[in-house]
Amino acid sequence: MIHYEKYVRAKSMDEAYALVQNFDNVILGGMLWLNTGNAHYGTVVDLCDLDLDRIKESGDCYNIYAYVTLGRMETDEALNAHYSGVFKEALSDIEGVQLRNMATVGGTVNLRAGFSDLCVVLLAMNAQVKLYNAGIVSMEKFLTMDRSRRDVVKKIILPKNAANTAYQALRNSATDIPVLNCAVTKVKDTLRIAVGARPGSPVVVTEQIGDAKEIAEKVAENITFGDNVRGSAEYRKLLCVTLVKRAIEQVMKEGK
Ligand SMILES: Cc1cc2nc3c(=O)[nH]c(=O)nc-3n(C[C@H](O)[C@H](O)[C@H](O)COP(=O)(O)OP(=O)(O)OC[C@H]3O[C@@H](n4cnc5c(N)ncnc54)[C@H](O)[C@@H]3O)c2cc1C
Repeated sequence: MIHYEKYVRAKSMDEAYALVQNFDNVILGGMLWLNTGNAHYGTVVDLCDLDLDRIKESGDCYNIYAYVTLGRMETDEALNAHYSGVFKEALSDIEGVQLRNMATVGGTVNLRAGFSDLCVVLLAMNAQVKLYNAGIVSMEKFLTMDRSRRDVVKKIILPKNAANTAYQALRNSATDIPVLNCAVTKVKDTLRIAVGARPGSPVVVTEQIGDAKEIAEKVAENITFGDNVRGSAEYRKLLCVTLVKRAIEQVMKEGK
């Protein structure tokens, strides 16, 4: 459980950004990950007054602001109708309803956990992250950015052309984090294939459409996997072929 000296409800993004330049301070999302540690902070910064709890459709994208919960993304009808239910599929196996109704998009994206079910989908979709100071960066770039440069995640931007996205994962047991997860987005003849929980950070490759098994084998051959308590590198490589193949088959089906 976290401990802190002072609680501040930021009045502006500017104030939040200035406060977190001090490494004693921290932004609060749903506080679920923060509370798994026992850290002591100076000031905790709440963004709840900054109108970040909303989903906004505009032109060729959907804007998902930082305080939208994973539960909201999982159940939002318009979002799931446009993206063929992929958020429902990808998020509904995370822990339980209570956790998903507290965990935020901003906290999840900022955390950049290797196993993140949301991040692997965003990477396949070629989504962007809007940071208060650094501006708009692709999810791909964001995942490799220097984490010591503190910023505030304002929103994620989902391109509408990523509507045809499928997600696959394997968990050793319900509510556990995944052994491996993947997402595939098909735009015209191109497949963006993201693989996460390797167990490292998710990675993405691009392939032209073709035989699903051959593409999946090629992807698994070119990605590095590691061992941890949930599975070996060898096991993950085999899983990768099966899960990526299934996801490709899903996006190749009409309507997916
Ligand atoms: C028990 C447990 C099981 C989980 N299982 C899974 C799983 O199976 N799959 C999965 O994908 N995820 C899983 N998660 C992760 C979860 O879904 C969230 O991603 C995670 O809790 C972070 O979200 P949060 O809102 O709680 O962030 P917090 O814990 O509040 O914050 C996380 C970090 O991000 C920072 N932060 C928060 N908001 C912002 C912002 N707007 N801008 C910049 N920095 C910010 C915080 O300062 C902190 O450093 C699990 C988490 C827990 C606790």
